[in-house]
Amino acid sequence: MEQDKKMDTVERAARDKLAERGVKPKHIAELVLFLQKKYHPNLQLDECLSNVERVLSKREVQNAILTGIHLDTAAEKGLLDEPLQSIIATDESLYGVDEIMAFSIVNIYGSIGFTNYGYIDKEKPGILSYLNDKSTGMCHTFLDDIVGAIAAAASSRLAHRARNAE
Ligand code: MG
Repeated sequence: MEQDKKMDTVERAARDKLAERGVKPKHIAELVLFLQKKYHPNLQLDECLSNVERVLSKREVQNAILTGIHLDTAAEKGLLDEPLQSIIATDESLYGVDEIMAFSIVNIYGSIGFTNYGYIDKEKPGILSYLNDKSTGMCHTFLDDIVGAIAAAASSRLAHRARNAE
């Protein structure tokens, strides 16, 4: 019982933080649709959204969201120690820890998540283009990878389920 309560608090916090940073589950569902529509021409946004919701209900995903957004916002406020402060605030490309955190999400539904993640990270459609817009003054060094990873994991889940249904 205590455990359930605790998980609810973490999930609520992760979802609230995502919303505060301008990311709604629907935005991630749009990324899933972008990734999967060529394989499933009749795919609807609702089905993408239900897969995103399942990924967001996973504790390891919620933990990554909370940790990543905490580091992003701390960097915005200049609260980190140097040299980490500059590395995260400028989204230094060789840092790589943001991507490592994202891989823990990508892996949840098997290795096809890697292909989806790589593709979406290169194309940066929809919400990913907003998160990579440096002119907003916000820091999304961790969040852009986490959002891409959730979309990749949800795409993998959707693809596995579609294959099983056939
Ligand atoms: Mg990043």
